Amino acid sequence: MRKIIIAGNWKMYKTISEALELVNGLKRILYNIENVEIVICPPYTCLDQISELISESNIKLGAQDMHWETEGAFTGEVSVLMLKDLSCRYVIIGHSERRQYFSETNETVNKKVKTALKYNITPIVCVGEKLEERQAGKTFQIIEDHIKNGLKDLSKEELARVVIAYEPVWAIGTGLTAKPEQAQEVHSFIRKLLSDMSDEETAQNITIQYGGSVKPDNTKDLIKQKDIDGALVGGASLKIDPFVEIIKNAAGLEAK
Ligand code: PEP
Repeated sequence: MRKIIIAGNWKMYKTISEALELVNGLKRILYNIENVEIVICPPYTCLDQISELISESNIKLGAQDMHWETEGAFTGEVSVLMLKDLSCRYVIIGHSERRQYFSETNETVNKKVKTALKYNITPIVCVGEKLEERQAGKTFQIIEDHIKNGLKDLSKEELARVVIAYEPVWAIGTGLTAKPEQAQEVHSFIRKLLSDMSDEETAQNITIQYGGSVKPDNTKDLIKQKDIDGALVGGASLKIDPFVEIIKNAAGLEAK
């Protein structure tokens, strides 16, 4: 059975006090959710205090990026060992904003994924096409490139520990969401690629999240799709009400 994971990507939002207020609210309301893995990915500056605050809760901690080396002269970077120190269980790798503004490539994604897996942190690997690529009929080609090169040379056992987030770039922060069937088509393609890279059973157990303007009112229709196993949520994870509603909506669905 696949794990449904709802992860909040807070991007560069929230001071420590704002973050703690939000997490206290989430803890209070979501304490009895068991069938959905709840993950929050705050900015680095908040990780330490949030880690302590959620240590006995059902909320897991994630980071938004990391370097592929464990230490070194890389000014401004954060390593996997630093994330482990803070009890991070997840790390987002290859978000389209990192690809677009910070020169992230499939090669750097691949190095980061390998390091995260080596140190037992689950990478949430983001893949997705830009609007012009979709319009040019290149969606599947781009997804194949992101998956095959971003996850290159992973063993079956390593692949089984990866989470994928399909995030069409044109849907991120735009209010445009892929139609559930449109997203399902790509998710099913991703699962087929994963199966080719490992085997059918391994691929069936990999969580593939959807991301791109997920809101309370579209969560159910998206996650009901056969190959959509949760969501990576940006804007709607920054406020308590929509994020709680998204998680409750996902928790009301049957496991796949
Ligand atoms: C994201 O940042 O990964 C994202 C999907 O953002 P939003 O939900 O705001 O589109």
